[in-house]
Amino acid sequence: MDVIVGVSIPVYQDVLRKIRLIRCLGLSWIEFGFFKGFPVSTNLISSLREMMLRLGLRCSVHCPYFINFCSEKSIVRERSLEIVTKCLEVCDFLNCELAVIHAGYYGSYGPSRCFHIIRDNLLKIIEHVSRLGIKCKIAIETMAKDSQFGSLEEVVKLCSDVESRIVVPCIDWAHIYVRYRGYISFRDVLKLVHEKLPWLDSLHSHYTSVNDFEDYHVPVGKGPPDFEEILKALKECQYFRRVVIVCESPLLERDAVKLLKMVREFF
Ligand SMILES: [Zn+2]
Repeated sequence: MDVIVGVSIPVYQDVLRKIRLIRCLGLSWIEFGFFKGFPVSTNLISSLREMMLRLGLRCSVHCPYFINFCSEKSIVRERSLEIVTKCLEVCDFLNCELAVIHAGYYGSYGPSRCFHIIRDNLLKIIEHVSRLGIKCKIAIETMAKDSQFGSLEEVVKLCSDVESRIVVPCIDWAHIYVRYRGYISFRDVLKLVHEKLPWLDSLHSHYTSVNDFEDYHVPVGKGPPDFEEILKALKECQYFRRVVIVCESPLLERDAVKLLKMVREFF
């Protein structure tokens, strides 16, 4: 099993310098965070594409935080559809493999209705991007809060319901830890994903340490979940050909190197 450590970087002015640094540090995956949408120039996106091709780095995209397919406001729902589609187009242009999304908040709809709303939106997006010949995957992230769509079970069920294999899970280890208050074993997480999605051969994931059971990112090692426990579970289970772990610690590349070192010692 190939374990790849990457780093999440917001796409702002100094992103090109950051990419060079990331390459020098031996990291081979970048997740481009379009967290605030697209006040990003097309010139910058073209430079990103050129640099990624030149350096041979692999990548993913993280869609904006304001996406909410289950909002009561139709303008937010429409905008979410539009922005995820735009992210997938950018993802394809940058030769990234997938785009990660936070699908939404239950709000007044509740979990079951929300599930169907998100699924219907994904189907619309898939139809649109397949017409354009875009092959990027959509990764649905497991979320920390009880008010958010994104329990492990929901994410896995959504991926299996859509049936296209274009929708995959993004296992955010810290979010899972927080949502389940630590009462979930990492082995069980991997087992469930594998049982419900046996076709999945590459697992995309995020890691950061958090402040106890709060979704507040702290440097690696300064809080749970224990990264070594995750590595142990991965090594034991061996369900996937490849696992990508994107570092989301506040120290980003510095902590990503720390994680990479641990991965190399472990595997
Ligand atoms: Zn995220």
